[in-house]
Amino acid sequence: MIEDIPADMFVRIQTDLLVIGDSVMTDRHHASNGNYEADDPQNQIGGIIPAFPLSGWLRHGMEAAVQDYGGVVCHPGEANANFMKGDVYERDLDSGYHEKGACMDDPKNDDGCLIFDLFGGFDGIPGKIMRRPIKFNPVRSSVDYTRGEAEGHYRRLNRNVVSRNDDDNREVLRNTEVDAVANLDGCWHLSFRELKPEFVGLLAESLSYLDEHQTEFMHQLGGARNFGAGVVDTHLINPLYEEKELKRVFDRAKRPTNAMNEKDERWEQTYRPEFTEALQDRIEEGS
Ligand SMILES: [Zn+2]
Repeated sequence: MIEDIPADMFVRIQTDLLVIGDSVMTDRHHASNGNYEADDPQNQIGGIIPAFPLSGWLRHGMEAAVQDYGGVVCHPGEANANFMKGDVYERDLDSGYHEKGACMDDPKNDDGCLIFDLFGGFDGIPGKIMRRPIKFNPVRSSVDYTRGEAEGHYRRLNRNVVSRNDDDNREVLRNTEVDAVANLDGCWHLSFRELKPEFVGLLAESLSYLDEHQTEFMHQLGGARNFGAGVVDTHLINPLYEEKELKRVFDRAKRPTNAMNEKDERWEQTYRPEFTEALQDRIEEGS
Protein backbone atom coordinates (compact mmCIF):
# COMPACT_ATOMS: atom_id res chain seq x y z
CA MET A 1 0.00 0.00 0.00
CA ILE A 2 2.81 2.33 0.86
CA GLU A 3 4.11 1.66 -2.68
CA ASP A 4 1.19 3.72 -4.02
CA ILE A 5 2.25 6.77 -2.06
CA PRO A 6 4.83 9.16 -3.49
CA ALA A 7 7.71 10.36 -1.33
CA ASP A 8 6.66 13.95 -2.08
CA MET A 9 3.57 15.17 -0.30
CA PHE A 10 1.69 18.43 -0.15
CA VAL A 11 0.10 20.10 2.82
CA ARG A 12 -2.69 22.62 2.32
CA ILE A 13 -1.97 25.82 4.22
CA GLN A 14 -4.60 28.56 4.43
CA THR A 15 -4.39 31.53 6.75
CA ASP A 16 -5.71 35.08 6.74
CA LEU A 17 -2.59 36.52 8.26
CA LEU A 18 0.88 35.24 8.91
CA VAL A 19 3.66 37.12 10.67
CA ILE A 20 7.03 35.41 10.78
CA GLY A 21 9.05 37.85 12.85
CA ASP A 22 11.46 39.55 10.49
CA SER A 23 12.28 36.50 8.45
CA VAL A 24 9.94 36.68 5.48
CA MET A 25 12.16 37.20 2.47
CA THR A 26 10.65 39.31 -0.26
CA ASP A 27 11.58 40.13 -3.80
CA ARG A 28 10.57 43.71 -3.13
CA HIS A 29 13.81 45.03 -4.54
CA HIS A 30 12.87 43.58 -7.91
CA ALA A 31 9.29 44.73 -7.82
CA SER A 32 9.79 48.21 -6.49
CA ASN A 33 12.31 49.54 -8.94
CA GLY A 34 13.02 52.25 -6.41
CA ASN A 35 9.40 53.32 -6.14
CA TYR A 36 8.17 50.98 -3.50
CA GLU A 37 5.37 52.34 -1.35
CA ALA A 38 4.75 50.12 1.64
CA ASP A 39 1.02 50.75 1.81
CA ASP A 40 0.19 50.61 -1.88
CA PRO A 41 -2.32 47.80 -2.40
CA GLN A 42 -1.08 47.44 -5.95
CA ASN A 43 2.19 46.03 -4.72
CA GLN A 44 2.93 42.84 -6.57
CA ILE A 45 5.46 41.46 -4.22
CA GLY A 46 6.24 37.83 -3.72
CA GLY A 47 8.58 36.19 -1.31
CA ILE A 48 9.57 33.16 0.67
CA ILE A 49 8.35 31.88 4.00
CA PRO A 50 11.30 30.00 5.50
CA ALA A 51 10.81 26.40 6.57
CA PHE A 52 11.90 26.94 10.20
CA PRO A 53 8.63 28.27 11.64
CA LEU A 54 6.62 25.82 9.51
CA SER A 55 8.76 22.96 10.72
CA GLY A 56 8.37 23.94 14.37
CA TRP A 57 4.62 24.16 13.94
CA LEU A 58 4.41 20.73 12.29
CA ARG A 59 6.74 19.15 14.82
CA HIS A 60 4.63 20.43 17.67
CA GLY A 61 1.54 18.95 16.02
CA MET A 62 3.31 15.63 15.54
CA GLU A 63 4.48 15.52 19.15
CA ALA A 64 0.91 16.14 20.28
CA ALA A 65 -0.48 13.46 17.96
CA VAL A 66 2.00 10.84 19.23
CA GLN A 67 1.31 11.81 22.84
CA ASP A 68 -2.41 11.54 22.16
CA TYR A 69 -1.82 7.88 21.37
CA GLY A 70 0.14 7.48 24.61
CA GLY A 71 3.58 7.75 23.05
CA VAL A 72 6.68 9.58 24.22
CA VAL A 73 8.94 11.65 21.97
CA CYS A 74 12.24 13.48 21.95
CA HIS A 75 12.29 16.86 23.62
CA PRO A 76 13.36 19.48 21.06
CA GLY A 77 16.12 20.83 23.29
CA GLU A 78 19.53 19.30 23.89
CA ALA A 79 19.67 17.63 27.30
CA ASN A 80 22.83 19.53 28.25
CA ALA A 81 21.53 22.91 27.10
CA ASN A 82 21.39 25.69 29.62
CA PHE A 83 17.62 26.17 29.81
CA MET A 84 16.40 29.33 31.41
CA LYS A 85 13.88 27.30 33.31
CA GLY A 86 15.40 23.99 34.30
CA ASP A 87 12.36 22.87 36.21
CA VAL A 88 10.17 23.32 33.14
CA TYR A 89 12.47 21.01 31.18
CA GLU A 90 12.31 18.43 33.96
CA ARG A 91 8.53 18.71 33.97
CA ASP A 92 8.39 18.21 30.19
CA LEU A 93 10.30 14.97 30.66
CA ASP A 94 7.49 13.73 32.88
CA SER A 95 4.79 14.55 30.38
CA GLY A 96 5.29 12.94 27.02
CA TYR A 97 8.94 13.75 26.32
CA HIS A 98 12.25 12.03 26.84
CA GLU A 99 15.68 13.60 26.57
CA LYS A 100 16.59 14.22 22.97
CA GLY A 101 18.23 11.08 21.64
CA ALA A 102 17.46 8.97 24.72
CA CYS A 103 15.36 6.74 22.45
CA MET A 104 18.32 5.48 20.46
CA ASP A 105 21.42 3.49 21.34
CA ASP A 106 22.97 2.64 18.02
CA PRO A 107 22.29 4.93 15.06
CA LYS A 108 23.06 2.08 12.66
CA ASN A 109 20.31 -0.25 13.83
CA ASP A 110 18.03 2.09 15.63
CA ASP A 111 15.52 4.62 14.37
CA GLY A 112 14.69 6.17 17.73
CA CYS A 113 11.22 7.51 18.44
CA LEU A 114 9.04 8.78 15.61
CA ILE A 115 10.14 12.38 16.11
CA PHE A 116 13.81 11.44 16.10
CA ASP A 117 13.24 9.30 13.03
CA LEU A 118 11.57 12.17 11.16
CA PHE A 119 13.42 15.22 12.42
CA GLY A 120 16.84 13.77 13.12
CA GLY A 121 19.12 14.63 15.93
CA PHE A 122 22.69 15.28 16.79
CA ASP A 123 25.82 13.66 15.39
CA GLY A 124 24.79 14.45 11.86
CA ILE A 125 21.88 12.04 11.86
CA PRO A 126 19.47 13.54 9.33
CA GLY A 127 15.72 13.37 9.74
CA LYS A 128 13.74 11.44 7.15
CA ILE A 129 11.40 14.31 6.34
CA MET A 130 12.66 17.30 4.42
CA ARG A 131 10.75 20.54 4.91
CA ARG A 132 10.96 23.21 2.25
CA PRO A 133 10.24 26.91 2.33
CA ILE A 134 7.02 28.15 0.73
CA LYS A 135 7.37 30.56 -2.12
CA PHE A 136 4.42 32.92 -2.34
CA ASN A 137 3.18 35.21 -5.05
CA PRO A 138 0.18 37.57 -5.14
CA VAL A 139 -0.70 36.63 -8.71
CA ARG A 140 -2.45 33.29 -8.63
CA SER A 141 -1.69 32.44 -12.23
CA SER A 142 2.01 32.65 -11.37
CA VAL A 143 1.75 30.18 -8.51
CA ASP A 144 2.99 26.68 -9.22
CA TYR A 145 1.23 24.54 -6.63
CA THR A 146 3.04 21.42 -7.77
CA ARG A 147 6.29 22.99 -6.57
CA GLY A 148 4.95 23.80 -3.13
CA GLU A 149 4.01 27.40 -3.74
CA ALA A 150 1.19 29.57 -2.48
CA GLU A 151 -0.83 32.61 -3.29
CA GLY A 152 -0.03 35.25 -0.70
CA HIS A 153 -0.02 39.00 -0.37
CA TYR A 154 2.93 40.66 1.24
CA ARG A 155 2.18 43.58 3.50
CA ARG A 156 4.31 45.70 5.72
CA LEU A 157 2.46 46.54 8.89
CA ASN A 158 3.31 49.66 10.83
CA ARG A 159 2.77 50.01 14.53
CA ASN A 160 3.27 53.13 16.53
CA VAL A 161 4.06 52.87 20.20
CA VAL A 162 2.70 56.08 21.72
CA SER A 163 3.21 57.84 25.00
CA ARG A 164 0.63 57.03 27.67
CA ASN A 165 1.06 60.35 29.43
CA ASP A 166 -1.93 62.66 28.92
CA ASP A 167 0.34 65.68 28.44
CA ASP A 168 1.92 64.10 25.40
CA ASN A 169 -1.25 63.72 23.30
CA ARG A 170 -0.27 60.25 22.17
CA GLU A 171 3.09 61.36 20.89
CA VAL A 172 4.78 58.56 18.97
CA LEU A 173 7.70 57.13 20.91
CA ARG A 174 8.66 54.42 18.54
CA ASN A 175 7.63 53.00 15.22
CA THR A 176 7.91 49.35 14.36
CA GLU A 177 7.45 47.63 11.05
CA VAL A 178 6.42 44.02 10.68
CA ASP A 179 6.48 41.84 7.58
CA ALA A 180 3.22 39.99 7.08
CA VAL A 181 1.64 37.74 4.48
CA ALA A 182 -2.09 38.11 4.06
CA ASN A 183 -4.54 35.61 2.57
CA LEU A 184 -2.05 32.83 2.18
CA ASP A 185 -3.35 29.76 0.38
CA GLY A 186 -1.24 27.05 -1.11
CA CYS A 187 0.88 23.99 -0.73
CA TRP A 188 3.74 23.17 1.55
CA HIS A 189 6.00 20.60 -0.08
CA LEU A 190 7.39 17.84 2.13
CA SER A 191 9.74 15.13 0.89
CA PHE A 192 10.40 11.90 2.68
CA ARG A 193 13.93 10.54 2.32
CA GLU A 194 12.48 7.22 3.31
CA LEU A 195 8.79 6.47 3.47
CA LYS A 196 7.22 4.33 6.17
CA PRO A 197 3.48 3.73 6.62
CA GLU A 198 3.58 5.20 10.14
CA PHE A 199 5.09 8.43 8.77
CA VAL A 200 2.14 8.93 6.47
CA GLY A 201 -0.21 8.10 9.34
CA LEU A 202 1.50 10.60 11.62
CA LEU A 203 1.54 13.34 9.01
CA ALA A 204 -2.20 12.97 8.38
CA GLU A 205 -3.02 12.72 12.10
CA SER A 206 -0.86 15.67 13.08
CA LEU A 207 -2.41 17.91 10.43
CA SER A 208 -5.89 16.95 11.64
CA TYR A 209 -4.74 17.77 15.16
CA LEU A 210 -3.34 21.16 14.11
CA ASP A 211 -6.50 21.97 12.18
CA GLU A 212 -8.72 21.10 15.14
CA HIS A 213 -6.55 23.14 17.54
CA GLN A 214 -5.84 26.01 15.16
CA THR A 215 -6.90 28.80 17.51
CA GLU A 216 -4.88 27.53 20.46
CA PHE A 217 -1.79 29.59 21.21
CA MET A 218 0.46 26.52 21.13
CA HIS A 219 -0.67 25.51 17.66
CA GLN A 220 -0.66 28.80 15.83
CA LEU A 221 2.05 29.52 13.32
CA GLY A 222 4.61 32.30 13.45
CA GLY A 223 5.37 35.04 15.88
CA ALA A 224 2.21 37.10 16.30
CA ARG A 225 -0.14 34.68 17.97
CA ASN A 226 -1.53 37.18 20.43
CA PHE A 227 -2.84 39.16 17.48
CA GLY A 228 -4.80 36.42 15.79
CA ALA A 229 -2.14 35.75 13.19
CA GLY A 230 -1.13 32.25 12.23
CA VAL A 231 -4.51 30.55 12.59
CA VAL A 232 -4.09 27.91 9.91
CA ASP A 233 -6.60 25.72 8.11
CA THR A 234 -4.65 22.68 7.08
CA HIS A 235 -4.90 19.12 5.84
CA LEU A 236 -2.87 16.63 3.87
CA ILE A 237 -3.71 16.88 0.20
CA ASN A 238 -4.67 13.41 -1.00
CA PRO A 239 -1.34 11.75 -1.82
CA LEU A 240 -3.10 9.64 -4.47
CA TYR A 241 -3.72 12.73 -6.62
CA GLU A 242 -1.77 13.21 -9.78
CA GLU A 243 -0.18 16.52 -10.59
CA LYS A 244 -3.09 17.83 -12.65
CA GLU A 245 -5.48 16.90 -9.85
CA LEU A 246 -3.36 18.76 -7.32
CA LYS A 247 -3.56 21.85 -9.53
CA ARG A 248 -7.30 21.46 -9.83
CA VAL A 249 -7.70 21.69 -6.05
CA PHE A 250 -6.72 25.35 -6.37
CA ASP A 251 -8.74 26.12 -9.46
CA ARG A 252 -11.79 27.88 -8.09
CA ALA A 253 -13.59 27.62 -11.41
CA LYS A 254 -13.52 23.84 -11.41
CA ARG A 255 -14.97 21.16 -9.21
CA PRO A 256 -13.23 17.91 -8.31
CA THR A 257 -13.45 15.28 -11.03
CA ASN A 258 -15.08 11.90 -10.48
CA ALA A 259 -11.62 10.38 -10.41
CA MET A 260 -10.66 12.75 -7.60
CA ASN A 261 -13.79 11.94 -5.62
CA GLU A 262 -13.09 8.27 -6.06
CA LYS A 263 -9.50 8.75 -4.85
CA ASP A 264 -10.76 10.69 -1.81
CA GLU A 265 -13.01 7.79 -0.91
CA ARG A 266 -10.19 5.29 -1.34
CA TRP A 267 -7.87 7.45 0.73
CA GLU A 268 -10.34 7.89 3.60
CA GLN A 269 -11.67 4.34 3.69
CA THR A 270 -8.65 2.22 2.86
CA TYR A 271 -5.33 4.02 2.91
CA ARG A 272 -5.57 6.41 5.81
CA PRO A 273 -6.95 3.85 8.31
CA GLU A 274 -4.15 1.47 7.38
CA PHE A 275 -1.50 4.15 7.93
CA THR A 276 -3.08 5.23 11.21
CA GLU A 277 -2.96 1.63 12.35
CA ALA A 278 0.73 1.44 11.44
CA LEU A 279 1.24 4.58 13.53
CA GLN A 280 -0.56 3.08 16.52
CA ASP A 281 1.40 -0.16 16.20
CA ARG A 282 4.72 1.64 16.24
CA ILE A 283 3.73 3.74 19.24
CA GLU A 284 2.59 0.60 21.08
CA GLU A 285 5.92 -1.04 20.33
CA GLY A 286 7.32 1.83 22.35
CA SER A 287 9.68 3.25 19.79
ZN1 LIG B 1 13.20 10.28 20.88
